[in-house]
Amino acid sequence: MNIVLPVQKRLKHFEEEERVLNKEEAITEAKRCEMCENAPCESASPLGLPVRAFLRNLQDQHFDEAYRLVKIVNPFPKISSKICDAHALCEKGCKLDKKIQIRRLQRFICEQGKPPEQEKVKLLKKSIGIVGAGPAGLACAAELSKKGYFSTVYDALPYQGGHLTMRIPLYKLSKETCVEDLGKLPNVTYQQNTIVGKTVHLAELQQKHDAIFLALGANTPQVISIPGIEKGNVFLAHDLLMRVHHFQAHEKKHVPLKIGKHVVVLGSSEVALDTARTLRRLGTQVTLISEQDYSQITAHHESLKRAQEEEIQCILLTQVEKILGKKDVESVQCIQMMAQQTESGEVLLSPLEGSTFTIPCDQVYLALGQHSTIFSDPTVKIRKSRTGKPIVNEHLQTSEEGIFAGGEMRLGKVTLEETMADGKKAAQKIHLWLNNALQKEDDDDVL
Ligand code: SF4
Repeated sequence: MNIVLPVQKRLKHFEEEERVLNKEEAITEAKRCEMCENAPCESASPLGLPVRAFLRNLQDQHFDEAYRLVKIVNPFPKISSKICDAHALCEKGCKLDKKIQIRRLQRFICEQGKPPEQEKVKLLKKSIGIVGAGPAGLACAAELSKKGYFSTVYDALPYQGGHLTMRIPLYKLSKETCVEDLGKLPNVTYQQNTIVGKTVHLAELQQKHDAIFLALGANTPQVISIPGIEKGNVFLAHDLLMRVHHFQAHEKKHVPLKIGKHVVVLGSSEVALDTARTLRRLGTQVTLISEQDYSQITAHHESLKRAQEEEIQCILLTQVEKILGKKDVESVQCIQMMAQQTESGEVLLSPLEGSTFTIPCDQVYLALGQHSTIFSDPTVKIRKSRTGKPIVNEHLQTSEEGIFAGGEMRLGKVTLEETMADGKKAAQKIHLWLNNALQKEDDDDVL
């Protein structure tokens, strides 16, 4: 089944590139499931999606019930049905050679089913301050709301969603979907344009709230130290993706973004592919260069395939040694790498002597991964690791009583599902702590 727009249409605009499965396709796909006894797909789902029950309801055309089952575990089902890394999680766990397309079936359900109403709960006179409006912070807020708590979510940016609304290209995830999933969280208020640690301090939040959850994500881009990195027109991929969103480059003809004629993107993560494909839609010629070989790249292979269809030149197993040019970038000097597998299965890379070549370009974008966001506040000193992450115990408690931390801020860059799962875990831990039940041994079953 062909569910991706043809290349020429894709490159013309930023509309979502995947269509929804139709009813017949969805039911046929769900019916391929063998309802395995131990369901490895379920244990591979960080949020604990009950895959078999979900698929069974889909087979029987009980779409509302299938939606309800997803929504119980996943606070933002529409968003994850478009961009989650199912290929590396539940779908990877599927034991069939041709994996069941769980993400696409979830998308079908989110279009066909009726979203369940949140059950009425007794509202509690307690509030939680959440720092960071990304997936972990909002998943925590959504979970706390189900338990009757109020939350205020603080974020430096003027919109909620973190990287979802800031860096995921619109051809994958529309603004409307983000608004539908994130816009109506009951008992949650937002305080945007607020930098906790600078424009407001943790000590103030401690006065206002009964507990605090720090979820600032992993927004510090990794840079490499190679000759020429300081040249003009070397940019961070994150900045580009954010500016494209912020200046609505998909709508306006004249955007305050200077895009080169031939640009090079370094990296092979999904962010690197998003950057390359976004630049391509802005009309430039793009070359993506990565040290990793096909088996090592972290991006979905489907994204790489689509990039190649869009005539993005993807050069793998190649290291950029130098960025060349007088003041600004004029070319990059590369060397091919050799991949050798050790007996333990580890892949070792080494440069192939005499294989140096250069690629002319006028801009370079770095998409080399990101570290956890470093947080500091002069009013409350939280113990941190050497890399600047807050140190937390198994209950996600920091060294400061009543302050918890989680999501990508503690885990580093992980999948959307993993960071949402950590946000939900934080909500449960905060709930137990507020009820003096956290230290009990089997705390998950206490309340
Ligand atoms: S592993 Fe695959 S076939 Fe088995 S229950 Fe899960 S989705 Fe169905």
